[in-house]
Amino acid sequence: MSVNHSERGHALLSASGAHRWLVCTASPSMEKGIADTTSTFAEEGTFAHELSELHFAHLYQGMTKRKFNAELKKRKQNEYYSEELHDYVKEYVDQVEEHINEAKARADTEPTLMFEEQLDLSTYVPESFGTGDVIVYNGGVLEIIDLKFGKGIEVSAIDNPQLRLYGLGALDIFDMIEDVQEVAMTIIQPRLNNLSTERLPVEDLKTWGEDYVRPRAEEAWNEEGSFVPGEHCRFCKVKHTCKARANHYLNMKNKLKDPNLLSSDEIADILFEADAVQKWAKDVQDYALQQAKDGKSFEGWKVVEGRSRRTYKDEGKILELLKDEHDEDELIEKKLLSISKLEKKIGKKTVEEKLKDYIAKPPGKPALVPESDKRPEMNSADNDFDTIN
Ligand code: SF4
Repeated sequence: MSVNHSERGHALLSASGAHRWLVCTASPSMEKGIADTTSTFAEEGTFAHELSELHFAHLYQGMTKRKFNAELKKRKQNEYYSEELHDYVKEYVDQVEEHINEAKARADTEPTLMFEEQLDLSTYVPESFGTGDVIVYNGGVLEIIDLKFGKGIEVSAIDNPQLRLYGLGALDIFDMIEDVQEVAMTIIQPRLNNLSTERLPVEDLKTWGEDYVRPRAEEAWNEEGSFVPGEHCRFCKVKHTCKARANHYLNMKNKLKDPNLLSSDEIADILFEADAVQKWAKDVQDYALQQAKDGKSFEGWKVVEGRSRRTYKDEGKILELLKDEHDEDELIEKKLLSISKLEKKIGKKTVEEKLKDYIAKPPGKPALVPESDKRPEMNSADNDFDTIN
């Protein structure tokens, strides 16, 4: 059954939140009754999914060119439409096509294709469901492809519980009718040029579902879970007020045993936590400000007017008043759009094809990052740092 994007609901134990509730099994009961919020990024992602679905309908589900063009014309009126977004969606559609072609080459049969399929996950997780963006089956391999449209964080398919749950949901559909040997779970994230796949034998995936997911899901569902703070708190609905999370960061100082200066090892430990501590403190600050604006008081704190910048009330009137003494050219600045705005306007591909020789990318400032970061290490011996600062 295909689902409407804007009506994609969320189960209490949702697949998209599984990275959190599988670790902090107390979080679903804490979040109960708190409404979902949305953001412009989420709405843009929904629109990108809808646009990709239109392409798939035309390429694989018999939608005529005429109907496709008419529908595309309508989509172009959407506030989130831009040439750049459409280019990324087309990149995703092209990559899906490559995966479908690989499936075709795997067997003499035609692959079975599904788009935007609602998946029942309740074999492993009570009352849970999710949506498989693209499902492809042929020759013993079942593949789930998931579009991630964000560009903030690169999402890997390796050990990804959301994708694995989708894999289990798709397996429930195919396992009875096909001889599925392997499940491939793929994430395509076009804005970060990220493509990653995890492949698991069917038995391994089912064992993960039965031995790892099911007991944790039952614990969470029965409100018998434990609090485990960590990076996964970031999208938790109670991240601002959760005491377990607050204790986790506030107790950090107790780990430093003696009163001497910090050692290199201790500094390294603090660096690992520093971003998370800042994020947690910012979450609490944002929450408290919102509450204070709504009338709640926090002892020792008050809401004041922040600093602001002067703005023109009426630019036309200002030009009118100055026109006798000054040429308009003296008063008006004309600038080329920024590269990202230009990409949005004329498309990423056009910028790449026509303008690449005229666009430079200066080296970035040195940043201290964990060793796991994919970027190569800068070489201090060659004075790389000095040339940038
Ligand atoms: S903020 Fe973190 S520790 Fe607290 S309930 Fe949410 S996920 Fe669990």
